[in-house]
Amino acid sequence: MTGDGPIVRVSASDPDGVLSETNTTRDGVVTVGSTGAQGLEPLVAVTHEGRTAFHTRCSPERVAELCAHADSAETAHSGGYDAVADHDPQTDQLPVPELPGLGAGERTVLGACGWRRPTSTADHEAAGGFGTPSPARVLEVGESLHGRGWGDVCQDESVAGTWESVREADGASSVVVNGHGAASDALLLASAPFEVLDGAVAVARTVGADRIVVYASADDERSVETVSAAAETYPEPPAPIDVVTGPAEYKAAEPTMALEAVEGNHRLEARLRPPGPEEVGLHGRPTLLHTPRTLAHLAVTLRRDEAPGTRVLTVTGDVAAPVTLELPETATLSEAVDAADATGEFKAACVGGQFGGVTRETDVTLDPAALEEADLGTEGAVRVLADDRCIVEFVGRQATFASEENCGRCVPCREGTTQLAELLRDIYGGAYDRDGIEELLRVMDTSSICAFGVRAGRPTRTAISAFEAEFEAHADGRCPAGSCTEALEAS
Ligand code: SF4
Repeated sequence: MTGDGPIVRVSASDPDGVLSETNTTRDGVVTVGSTGAQGLEPLVAVTHEGRTAFHTRCSPERVAELCAHADSAETAHSGGYDAVADHDPQTDQLPVPELPGLGAGERTVLGACGWRRPTSTADHEAAGGFGTPSPARVLEVGESLHGRGWGDVCQDESVAGTWESVREADGASSVVVNGHGAASDALLLASAPFEVLDGAVAVARTVGADRIVVYASADDERSVETVSAAAETYPEPPAPIDVVTGPAEYKAAEPTMALEAVEGNHRLEARLRPPGPEEVGLHGRPTLLHTPRTLAHLAVTLRRDEAPGTRVLTVTGDVAAPVTLELPETATLSEAVDAADATGEFKAACVGGQFGGVTRETDVTLDPAALEEADLGTEGAVRVLADDRCIVEFVGRQATFASEENCGRCVPCREGTTQLAELLRDIYGGAYDRDGIEELLRVMDTSSICAFGVRAGRPTRTAISAFEAEFEAHADGRCPAGSCTEALEAS
């Protein structure tokens, strides 16, 4: 993707759809995946001689106009852009412009997103991809690589021990890329599938796996389509690469439920552990399950000879548009929150996905140990709650979701989430039983079979700790945020 003339990159969740609206077929125009900053799309980046001009939220007419200049070096940067970035002309990573959602952090694991053509083997090869590192080197990197996200069987733990046990196991083994559930994983599959596959292939070669399966939500059509195309053209993989979809349910990302879905079982229930998937996994074979984030981290670390030391996370909630970004582990939550365009005054953040911890403190670093210490989640998802949000209503919804969406296999989660939703509803009738709620959460946390039940009480536990006055006010018939008035009157 080089040449003397300007290159126009059209970036969006569906860039080909954007281009087809414009009837544009000019040389020098390429479609790339989303950068992760959805609010800027369609984003057109015009690059010429080490300088890239960014044009945000382009109409079809504007896209057509910019593409028409693709063969004109003089007009490539002739004003009208929203930001410009100077960079190495040969860079293979998106240069970071001063734009909301895109200007924060760095682009290493996300470097390909919005810059390289997702299914172009030439682009990936030019960026140093498709390498064949030795198993010894992969195992060495694995020592300090920790799994990312709750869909990873090594979440927040070094992956090396699990790799060793699969490597030493007798018989055939599998590698499952668990791309279900997290927006950041869906982005990587759609915008940087070869990074993810490079990681999966390196692991498969290292442990001697003879099957690689990419598992994603059926709803993430773009991710499925793109990673399927990339899998078909991956050069000489050590094992066949299949792409399998599962239902668009939250629980379907849990590693053992992911295995159930990949095996084609319609009723998803978590499997008892031990034995873990590394012993008895897909079709009873030793299996590694890693998220796209973990595998892309592995791939870029193997290529660069040093770990990027970053976390990829998605900021959602009361923001103009979701943003997926990459920040150093030393960055704080406030940097993540500030990267998104909030739609109101900040009140709190729910950190760690669906069952994250609720906090008003954002000076916590993104390092998993610091997040755990603060009773926050490490799933790579931050939901911003604006000041007109009612915290009691928010955690009530999370509890109801948990009671409706759990798999039903174990009592502490199945009955516990139902009781929790009831106890939170009782507050509206004047009965706030903090001790009863905390005891219930303790039982769910310590006795549930899988991470779903272990974490389902975290929003409530942390919200009581940070916002107890709101719970007491509701028991007194008052909603400080003013959003539960009808519910309180009906009680
Ligand atoms: S914790 Fe919940 S989701 Fe997990 S096995 Fe038990 S009932 Fe199912």
